Amino acid sequence: MATGSLTIDLDALVSNWKALDAASGAGVETAAVVKADGYGLGGARVARALARAGARRFFVAVAEEGAELRQALGPHPEICVFGGHMAGDSDMISDLGLVPMLNSVEQLTRHFEALPGAPFGIQLDTGMNRLGLEVAEWAAVAEIALAAGPTLVMSHLACSDDPDSPVNAKQLEMFRAMTDGCGVPRSLAATGGILLGPEYHFDVTRPGVGLYGGLPFEEAAPVAHLSLPVIQTREIEQGEIVGYGGTWTADEDTVMATVAAGYGDGLIRAMGNKGHLFHEGIPCAILGRVSMDLITVDVSHLDHAPRALDILGVDQTVDDVAEAAGTIGYEILTGLGGGRYRRQYTGGQG
Ligand SMILES: *Cc1c(COP(=O)(O)O)cnc(C)c1O
Repeated sequence: MATGSLTIDLDALVSNWKALDAASGAGVETAAVVKADGYGLGGARVARALARAGARRFFVAVAEEGAELRQALGPHPEICVFGGHMAGDSDMISDLGLVPMLNSVEQLTRHFEALPGAPFGIQLDTGMNRLGLEVAEWAAVAEIALAAGPTLVMSHLACSDDPDSPVNAKQLEMFRAMTDGCGVPRSLAATGGILLGPEYHFDVTRPGVGLYGGLPFEEAAPVAHLSLPVIQTREIEQGEIVGYGGTWTADEDTVMATVAAGYGDGLIRAMGNKGHLFHEGIPCAILGRVSMDLITVDVSHLDHAPRALDILGVDQTVDDVAEAAGTIGYEILTGLGGGRYRRQYTGGQG
């Protein structure tokens, strides 16, 4: 077996959802964001486990993801689409009962013309400048849009992973100014917003990364466990180089292992000479560059040649790996989605 083994702990996923649900507070609905194939961990399996645990509303980025999710979840859970109602989406939205978060006057018009009476939500821009109606646009169409009975009015925070950022309070104030008294359920908080406190929670929270074991949810249980088989070990002498470009040179005799995964499996090349793999809790440094299919690791200090080395799980979080790679846990997680891994799911039946 020369592919890595990616084990997804659905019990840990469910316990993270329950913890974020408890943090969202009584009377607040905790949804689940399962875009990008459940942050790389398998959207259908993840969503089914969360639905069994009590999640009733799911968010995806685009209608195509919603169509796949509908197959996995059956007719009842609400599936909301952040990207809204794009040209060509009408049949999918209507046939599969998706709820687009309409984010422009163009999308409102398209939805009302193509699917009058069909459910929708509204996405407002409160300062992130990415998606959603801006203040002036909203002022112009709010009356008509609200009269058509949206199921949700939402916005997204740009800096919620940083509780000290003044942007959070500014966006909160803007969201209130745009929606107070609108009489429609409201949603502002993703994982970071949940942790900012109750004034950010409104009626529905939308955690994503925290469910999958990532920051800013520090107490998250690890969900992704990734173990990479060792293909070969070798002894190299002082002065020998390792890997492309010869960027690492042994300053003493070294035992190294070559494992079967690389940047072609989402293990980012920038962690060459920086990151670590683990053997029974003992860190083993990555030597030289990460190749497309292989990573070379120092195992000199282990008392035997390991059959496999772990890169994600109890020893190291997605954010530890991200730090070594100069990125964020989100990118490590979603990168796993394209990897050549043997996937196993544990738990999630309860
Ligand atoms: C991705 C996303 C979320 C989930 O964010 P996390 O930081 O992963 O919890 C929520 N809302 C919107 C609009 C998003 O794009």
